[in-house]
Amino acid sequence: MFLKTRAALIAISLSLVSAVAYAAPGTLAFTGARIIDGTENAPIENGVLISIDGKISNVGSAANVTIPDDAEIVDLQGKTIMPGLINTHGHVGQVLGLENGHYDRGNVLRQLALYARYGITMVNSLGDDEYEGFQIRNDLNPYSLNYSRLMVAGPVLAPRTTEQAVRAVNGVADQNADFIKIRVDDNLGRTAKMAPEIYQAIADESEKRGIPLAVHAYNLEDAKATLAAGADFIAHSVRDQEVDQEFIDALISSQVCYTPTLTREVSTFIYESEPAFFNDPFFTKEVSSEIMTTLNDPERQARVQNSETAQHYKNHALPMAMHNLKVLSDAGVSIVMGTDSGPAARFQGYFEHLEMSMMVDAGMSPSAVIQSATSVAAKCLGLDDLGTLEEGKWADIVVLERNPLDDINNTQSLSDVWIAGNRVPRD
Ligand SMILES: [Zn+2]
Repeated sequence: MFLKTRAALIAISLSLVSAVAYAAPGTLAFTGARIIDGTENAPIENGVLISIDGKISNVGSAANVTIPDDAEIVDLQGKTIMPGLINTHGHVGQVLGLENGHYDRGNVLRQLALYARYGITMVNSLGDDEYEGFQIRNDLNPYSLNYSRLMVAGPVLAPRTTEQAVRAVNGVADQNADFIKIRVDDNLGRTAKMAPEIYQAIADESEKRGIPLAVHAYNLEDAKATLAAGADFIAHSVRDQEVDQEFIDALISSQVCYTPTLTREVSTFIYESEPAFFNDPFFTKEVSSEIMTTLNDPERQARVQNSETAQHYKNHALPMAMHNLKVLSDAGVSIVMGTDSGPAARFQGYFEHLEMSMMVDAGMSPSAVIQSATSVAAKCLGLDDLGTLEEGKWADIVVLERNPLDDINNTQSLSDVWIAGNRVPRD
């Protein structure tokens, strides 16, 4: 019995060693930085953060943290660190250049590396995930080197009968999907909307399988109805009208999180002319000139200018989304950063920074926006070991030249990204 136990213990410790060696071996001491820990706490000036084998073992002011003798020092004098950013609504793997239909392992990994270089260290892919995405999710988590971590939902479910709904939920649940994703939207009257009995069946079966249900909705009434049916995550802003107290109460009492995806609206109309960010090195560093040339094509621009839907999103949906974000945030609803990036011309990595900037434009404080992209996002996704720079969490760290509490656009002064105590190559 003793021998057997001892052998088992050795086996466990060996597997831990190999896993840890893969994650990031050794002890690191990040010194001298201002530490924004992702919670409501005030930042720590001249802080020290210790990471052992990829996880945070201690964090505090220089006076209060002892640096272990064997630690490798990462000197961050004058810089600011905060937790790796979490995109609660993204997509991976389908688009190459500006073209759909390129889903494969290489394309998913390429995009996860892109997110990682922008400091997005976890992406919740809410739909269009294929087999390779599930494999990568299984391989990467909980460790990741050079790639954003990944959660997957599988296909966006669109069953036509309640029987199909039950089967569809079980199909993705059997693959261990992190979320179930549906759309309840008629796309400004152009398509049929999922019927209430269908989403009710999906919600019931998701609940049975213990998998949260994320809902794409546009209208306030649909958002309310799906919440009542049991939705666990509102994947876009309410954009047709001002939110009301009933909706606020439903979100708060059910503890459902709400992701604004403001940049999704931006992507529908911004290419009517050349966007300012085409001249921003933080953007152009990662986007080919061919893509920008295509988007700058005058005929293409004219189509966007003349598109009724694009102009509707610009003049009505986006301003309404920003208004509602302020109202919901002030009311204490859990707001999480999410972009719906990944489809063509919704640029992964850059759009998450643009999103945070727009959330401040809508009226949230930089501190609240940072929490929405870190601690609140982690909590909403059920991630216990990510989202803050606290003892026991993964050392997923974004290093900034300037303080984002002074100006949220300072998240773009990114100088380094660490995932599980591993420095992500950015050149
Ligand atoms: Zn989406």
